[in-house]
Amino acid sequence: MLNFEKSKQAFQESSRYLPGGVNSPVRAFKNVGGEPLFIAKGDGAHIFDIDGNRYLDYVLSWGPLILGHADPQVVKDLQAAVARGTSYGAPTILETELAKKIQAIVPSLEMMRMVSSGTEATMSAIRLARGYTHRDKIVKFIGNYHGHSDSLLVDAGSGVATFNDIHEAPGVPEDLAYDTLTVAYNDIEGIKQVFSAHGEEIAGVIVEPIAGNMGVIPGTADFLQTLRTLTSEAGALLIFDEVMSGFRAAFHGAQSLYHITPDLTTLGKVVGGGLPVGVFGGRKEIMKWITPDGPVYHAGTLSGNPLAMTGGLSTLAQLDESLYKQMTARTDELMTGIKGAADAHGVPITVHHVGTMWSYFFNQGPVNNFDDVQKSDVTYFAKFFKALLQHGIYTAPSQFETNFMSSKHTEADIETTIAAFNAAFDDVARTK
Ligand SMILES: *Cc1c(COP(=O)(O)O)cnc(C)c1O
Repeated sequence: MLNFEKSKQAFQESSRYLPGGVNSPVRAFKNVGGEPLFIAKGDGAHIFDIDGNRYLDYVLSWGPLILGHADPQVVKDLQAAVARGTSYGAPTILETELAKKIQAIVPSLEMMRMVSSGTEATMSAIRLARGYTHRDKIVKFIGNYHGHSDSLLVDAGSGVATFNDIHEAPGVPEDLAYDTLTVAYNDIEGIKQVFSAHGEEIAGVIVEPIAGNMGVIPGTADFLQTLRTLTSEAGALLIFDEVMSGFRAAFHGAQSLYHITPDLTTLGKVVGGGLPVGVFGGRKEIMKWITPDGPVYHAGTLSGNPLAMTGGLSTLAQLDESLYKQMTARTDELMTGIKGAADAHGVPITVHHVGTMWSYFFNQGPVNNFDDVQKSDVTYFAKFFKALLQHGIYTAPSQFETNFMSSKHTEADIETTIAAFNAAFDDVARTK
């Protein structure tokens, strides 16, 4: 058994100062039980906890680290940047360079704004949609997560589902929740009904085209195409929240897989390469509504921060189609291995993956929406998660989260991981 003594002590200490001992709830291991690991360092595909245990890491900071930990080029670029100062509150060429790079990869962002988190990106996109359309209502899908701003915290999946009744969002004024209409994910009839009842009042529809905050659930092509058609007809904006799926589901984002052009897109996670960056952008005519060009207010002391821009630029510069081919092939292989291991042990499982995003549900399937996810065996998941950890594999500590692949995960790492899954299934069977 691995020794977690130092992490346990660190957690007792942090719990005196931070609610739940953490700065973001899903880190707390609440729904698998026990204490979270405190991390000392990361190196490529591995992380090391403060007790000196080493793990193959598939959390990757919840998505951003597509090049793994402490990529040598990223470290070098950041070291050079920090020596020039950390923030100026005045424009730098880096911001334009990153914007150009993003646009080259995701062309629907004709103009964009840099912010410091995915939450800020979606919050700002929603305000822009409301300002631009002069309408108040927003549509979101049950189990999609768009950060923790007021309007978007209703029925928000993952972290929220783990800790609360998903419908509840204490602290969010009822009036705001009233303007957020929620529909089941992949429910074409449901969204049609909402538009026939409220079409004229809807500012925008925000959707994760590939949902990643209730495990991985791809939107169906018909569903996403229906959203495009309905919003266009009603004069509402279609917002693709690609904070997770951007540079993850595919190099050019989920929008390239479905051949759908949203009006606005939000990015985050990979776009900062492990530094705090979010982006919202889209059609020029709409983005022109942002201050100081237009009336919709947006600002940020650290927006476009030079270190954050450098993290993004250095990361995106290393990405290309062939790297995605390699990472996707390794993800495919891992999924086949996990499915095979579960089948061999007679454990019902559904595995989903798109590009470098992957998850598995202890559930017979099919898994197409949040209700389906809820049928998963979370008790089994908790046991299994801990068994995997003992075999040196660090995955998301919740049945409702996505795991990721990095460019640093080797063929040998995949084989090690599949062997660990087999061993973990054995372990859980033995303790039954
Ligand atoms: C992570 C995430 C967010 C929130 O981003 P933060 O940087 O955590 O604020 C928003 N939308 C989606 C789809 C996400 O996965």
